[in-house]
Formats: sequence, C-alpha cells, structure tokens
Amino acid sequence: MSTRHFTEPAKKHLGQHFLHDRRIIDMIVQAVDPKPGDRLVEIGPGQGAITFPLLDRHGELTVIEFDRDLIFPLTDAARAHGTLEVIHRDVLSVDFSAIARNSGAGDGKIRLVGNLPYNLSSPILFHALDHATAIHDMVFMLQKEVVDRMAAGPGSKVYGRLGVMLQAYCHVTPLFDVPPGAFKPPPKVDSAVVRLVPRAPETIGVADPAMFTAVVRDAFGQRRKTLRNALSKLCDAAAIEAVGVRPDARAEQIEVADFVRLANSLAKA
Ligand code: SAM
Repeated sequence: MSTRHFTEPAKKHLGQHFLHDRRIIDMIVQAVDPKPGDRLVEIGPGQGAITFPLLDRHGELTVIEFDRDLIFPLTDAARAHGTLEVIHRDVLSVDFSAIARNSGAGDGKIRLVGNLPYNLSSPILFHALDHATAIHDMVFMLQKEVVDRMAAGPGSKVYGRLGVMLQAYCHVTPLFDVPPGAFKPPPKVDSAVVRLVPRAPETIGVADPAMFTAVVRDAFGQRRKTLRNALSKLCDAAAIEAVGVRPDARAEQIEVADFVRLANSLAKA
C-alpha cells in the first residue's frame, strides 16, 4: 500500500494511530476472512491500512470516515484496489440498520471492521449494540484494557458494566494483542483485536433493555456495595432473592444471566 496519497499529519483528537505492521494487518484481514456476498463496512479507514488489503480480497467495501482531509486521498488510492463507497460522517450518526437494509447482502446484515478511535470505543460499541440485529459480526481493534473489560467474567477485577452489557447481547472473543510499535504514531497503550457476534434475538433473553441497563448501571455504580444497597432504588432484597441471587453479594460476583433474570423479573413486576 502506498502512503504517497496521504500528506496530512495524524490528528490526535481523532484518535489517529495508523497501522503499519504488515503481519498485524494480515491477521486482521484473516480474522475478517470475507466471503462472497458479505457486505463489509469499515469504521475509520484512515490511510487505508486495512481498507486496501480488504478491497484486494473482497473487491468492494463501505467506509465511514470523519476526517475530511482523508476522504480524497483515500478515494484516489482505492481506485487501484476495488470499489470503495465512502460515507463522510461521524460514525455515531450512521444508521447501520439502514445500510444493512439497502445492502443486498444475503442475510440482510453487515459485517463491521475497524481499528477504532480509542477515545470513542465505548460509544461506538453501544451504538453498534443499538443496531445489533443488522450486524452479522464485528472485528475491532481497541485498547487492550477495554478488550479485557469486554470479555471479563465474575470474579475478575475488570468485570463490570461494559462486559455485562456486551456479553448479554454478543459473544465476545478476544483474538490477539497488538503492541504500540505496530502504529504510527504509537499509542501509549497496548491494543487488542476482538470479535463480537451479536446473539440471535431469540437467545438474548433481555425482555426490557431499559430495565436491564438500569439494573447493570446501578449494580456497578458503587462496586463495593451489596446488591441490596446498590439496587435500593429499583427493588428490595426479596425481589433479588426471588430470582435466586444473594442480596448481600456484590455486582462483581453476579453472572450475566443472573442480571438478565433479575431485570426481566423487575420489568414484569
Ligand atoms: N484504520 C486506520 C488504520 O488502521 O491505520 C486508521 C485507524 S485510527 C486508530 C482511527 C480512524 O477513525 C481515523 O482514521 C479517524 O480519522 C477515524 N475517526 C475518528 N473519529 C471518527 C468518527 N467519529 N467517525 C468516523 N471516523 C472517525
């Protein structure tokens, strides 16, 4: 891939750390492993580190990029690789469901990929969750610390709201770690690539997403508190006990499925 098209320096406020490690780029493309008919959408293509190899493999790709200065060089350089559709927008304002509806993809779903701007990791993940039924899977590079939180289970120090929320709606599989030296400029932290596969709607089990969000938010709001105290605005100890959860346990000890059962029972009450 040639970078002669790109003359602007990296912009810190847009989380621009451009991948240049060929081996890591190949590993990401391998993790995506596009199949004929897949509708691929990349968030934050930057200077095309993942974009062009994906285009070489797949022939077509949609990218969402916020930085106006990258749009022309990206489009220009892409011509040698395949058909690139560029959406020049803030990804948080992009309606993934609409893209999926218009995609003509076999299963009517898109596949998301991206080396994400780390300052927006959580908002992008929650935005994607809002469109989970339109997404086949996601392969994202994020801060390693965020990937650890996404995949953590009860008993882990980093088990918390992010992990419970994501795991309730998706299968979360960390794939591999990436050192700072793989990027220009190098970020201050380690990175990791993770795959998220939204669960089939009939297996999600969350009856009332607003109640589930409230339970998880309050439960982890003050980690040191027992559930009975942390959830006092939403329910009493008897309601917690009624779903087989100990009211004197702390949020960090509770399984994702137990949070789902508790929220469902409160939603019904
Ligand atoms: N994919 C490229 C790579 O791997 O070298 C660039 C990754 S860089 C970490 C993040 C990219 O996301 C940048 O191109 C940045 O301009 C873009 N970006 C930042 N905020 C964005 C937003 N709100 N919407 C869309 N793209 C954004």
